[in-house]
Amino acid sequence: MRIVLVGPPGAGKGTQAAYLAKNLSIPHISTGDLFRANISQGTELGKKAKSYMDAGDLVPDEVTIGMAKERMSQPDAANGFLLDGFPRNVSQAEALDGMLKSEGMQLDAVLDLEVPEDEVVKRIAGRRICRNDSSHVFHVDYSAPKAEGVCDACGGELYQRPDDSEETVRTRLDVYHTQTEPIIDYYRAQGLVATIPALGQVNEVTERAMAALSHKGKAA
Ligand code: AMP
Repeated sequence: MRIVLVGPPGAGKGTQAAYLAKNLSIPHISTGDLFRANISQGTELGKKAKSYMDAGDLVPDEVTIGMAKERMSQPDAANGFLLDGFPRNVSQAEALDGMLKSEGMQLDAVLDLEVPEDEVVKRIAGRRICRNDSSHVFHVDYSAPKAEGVCDACGGELYQRPDDSEETVRTRLDVYHTQTEPIIDYYRAQGLVATIPALGQVNEVTERAMAALSHKGKAA
């Protein structure tokens, strides 16, 4: 399956993407993770992306689209993928459509994770992520690690993403509403969108998403 995951920052896209990708045996492709890996490796691409990310703005399309296409053309993505954080505006969505069409492929579903805005701010402010694996996500109040600052899953160091500061989160939410939300209508017109209420236990949200995907699968 070829799936896009959309939702505001803090909706749990990374967490859900990790579970869904595992259940469906497809790679989880996160453009945010790809940028962060480039930054920690000190690549040219990472240098280009960093100032935009720190400010909570979108990295320009000419950098982002090429990186995303390159990752989607890897052999492990030949039979499907789950995109997390891409596309993030209509021109990226059009570029993705163009790329898939040129290879005779199309998306199967777009999962829209829905979370109230005040919840999003609370989730992000307390979010702590493992340096070894960004799918190991904790929250200082909602899912605290056993030892402060240490990942329960692998012992890695937990950190707060620099763009999770309250001020940057406001910008990221604005960017989400103005630039990313329009892709939901774009995909709705193609009959691809399933809205998933994303409050509740992580596994409940995963189950809702899997149920929505099986409906999409039958409809396709
Ligand atoms: P994320 O980890 O998905 O929250 O992404 C973190 C940051 O990376 C975003 O706030 C953007 O600055 C940048 N980013 C990730 N994906 C994209 C994208 N598709 N287009 C532009 N910028 C992106």
